[in-house]
Amino acid sequence: MVLDPDGPGVEAGVEAPAEAEGEGGGQDEIRFDASLRPEALADYVGQDAIRETLGIAIQAAQERGDVLDHVLLCGPPGLGKTSLAQIIAREMGVRCRKTQGPAVDRGGDLAAILSDLEAGDVLFIDEIHGLPRKVEEVLYPAMEDFELDLIVGQGPMARSMRLSLKPFTLVGATTRAGMLDAPLRDRFGSTFRLEFYAKEELARILHRSASILGVDLTADGATEIARRSRGTPRIANRHLKRVRDYAQVEHPSHPIGPKIAAAGLELHRVDPGGLEPMDHQILLAVLDRFDGGPVGVESLAAMLGEARETLEAVYEPFLVQEGYLERTPRGRIATRRAYDHFGRAVPTSPRQGRLL
Ligand code: ADP
Repeated sequence: MVLDPDGPGVEAGVEAPAEAEGEGGGQDEIRFDASLRPEALADYVGQDAIRETLGIAIQAAQERGDVLDHVLLCGPPGLGKTSLAQIIAREMGVRCRKTQGPAVDRGGDLAAILSDLEAGDVLFIDEIHGLPRKVEEVLYPAMEDFELDLIVGQGPMARSMRLSLKPFTLVGATTRAGMLDAPLRDRFGSTFRLEFYAKEELARILHRSASILGVDLTADGATEIARRSRGTPRIANRHLKRVRDYAQVEHPSHPIGPKIAAAGLELHRVDPGGLEPMDHQILLAVLDRFDGGPVGVESLAAMLGEARETLEAVYEPFLVQEGYLERTPRGRIATRRAYDHFGRAVPTSPRQGRLL
């Protein structure tokens, strides 16, 4: 790896410490998300096994005065990976520096980020599977020995030198665990796979969010929003915001119960199972254009005008988990539940027979 003296400053690709952090789509979403982010492990709802294991690891590291081992978080968007990274930093009493895998396109950029870390800091690399291979190699000695291998100069004058880094914790997040190279994956001390949240957990998150936002949400109202939230806290919070707007305009000074929640979400074409227009498009394409499948993910993506990665990382996990879609080596197949959802008769062809 060559350290480029004209490369970006040490702040390149690094955002502010956790306290100033937010994330999401537009500006409003950023503030909204940021204010609702759980700040401590105790506020972090669900993912019980992960919370318990991490809690013990954090306490043990603190008692030894050690840094926490590197942590890899895998799972679909919006399940709480960024929040967990920030909580780890907060619980350890250190800063959280944040960057995105695809944004770090030169080894020198990563070297600059790493050498800027203070002892114990958390470096959060979101979408870590997007790190280019050359950059990834810079991480290996950094993760293992807290050292950087540098090549200074060019041509015959080039010489290599090792630079010591302060011990740090790398928290990597990925929506595509399968795309991570084994050498990188193996260097994480622990790997956690985040699961979709149960409705009761989402309802708890919604109650907390409602109280932060000053929204009057009934227990049944929270359940109704939770039911339509695809097992995903970010979506639950986004739905709450949409419902809040609807309630404020159409039913001012009423608490948000299930009817108002349902009507507010219907307005945004979120159906009772939490499926949104893009989910409908995906399922209807498989059902109608590809006769229920099997259809290769590339053909499906091309037909929908969507990136294959987005289809695989964002939409499919929930459709598969809920049993609308099956991933097979031959391609995607619509299940009986998908036919039922759209009131379609289930075909009796032999190729569909196995699944249906
Ligand atoms: P990811 O990094 O996996 O895409 P985030 O950590 O950004 O997900 O989570 C999105 C939002 O969902 C957060 O801002 C927070 O408001 C909410 N959230 C996620 N996980 C939890 C949780 N376990 N408890 C409470 N709120 C959560």
